Amino acid sequence: MSKKSVAKEAEEILLATDMIQLGARLQVLQAETSLSYDRLARLYREVKGCSPPKGMLPFSVDWFMTWLPNIHSTVFYSIYNYIDTHTPAKKSRALVEAYRLYAEQADGGLGTPPGEELVLSFTRAWMLIRFFDSNLLQLSHCERCKGGFIAHAHDPQAGFVCAICRPPPRAGKTRKRRTATASSKVANAGNSGDLVDELESTLVPEAKGSSSKAAKSPVGRPRARKASQALSQGGMEASPVAQSDALSET
Ligand SMILES: [Zn+2]
Repeated sequence: MSKKSVAKEAEEILLATDMIQLGARLQVLQAETSLSYDRLARLYREVKGCSPPKGMLPFSVDWFMTWLPNIHSTVFYSIYNYIDTHTPAKKSRALVEAYRLYAEQADGGLGTPPGEELVLSFTRAWMLIRFFDSNLLQLSHCERCKGGFIAHAHDPQAGFVCAICRPPPRAGKTRKRRTATASSKVANAGNSGDLVDELESTLVPEAKGSSSKAAKSPVGRPRARKASQALSQGGMEASPVAQSDALSET
C-alpha cells in the first residue's frame, strides 16, 4: 500500500461525509475520493444509519430536458458555475456548496415536505456536471429572458425559448403530490414568485446577442386560464411552479 497523507485523507472523509448528508450514492463518493469501498460503505452507515442503496446511477441526458428538471438543473448549474469560477471552492467542493445553496432555494419557494427528495438529487447534480465536462450539454440562451438554460450540446441556439418563458400546457399534471396542500400553496403563490426572482437573478444573462422580438406570451392555455382565476394575485405568468400547484388541484 502506498503511503497516504493523513491530512488529505481527513479532508476526503469530510468531503465524503458532506456528500453523504446531501444524498450522494456510493459510486459518486468512489469517483470523488480515493477512499476504499469498505471505508466509504462504513462511513455511509455511520452517517445515514443504513446501508448504501445499490444499483445503477441514473444515466440519462434527456432527463435534464423535461421542463421542471430543466429549470431546477439550470438553477443548480448556474450556482455551481459561479462558485467554481469565482470562489476558492473548486470541483467537488463547489459541487457540495452549490448543491446546498440549490437545496435552500428549491425548498424556500416550494416548501418541499420533510423526507421528500428535491427535484434534482445530489447524484443527478453530480451527473450533470460530468455531462457538461464531457460536452454532452450546453447552456442555450433564451431569446425572451436571456437566461442560460441547459440544452443538448450543439442544439441550435437561434429561437430558443426556455421552460420558464414557455412552460408546456400540461406542466405539473404528472405530479401527484401536494394535492392536499395545493390550495394553501396557491394562496401563498407570492412565495414561488420569489423563487422565480431568485432564479432569474442567478441565471447568466447573455451579452446582448439576439435582439428580442418581444414575443407575446404563450397563447391558448385554457386550463391555465381557469387555474389563474384561483390565483387572485396573478403571479401565474411569472411562475410555472404556481401553475403546477394550481393544476394539480383540479
Ligand atoms: Zn426564458
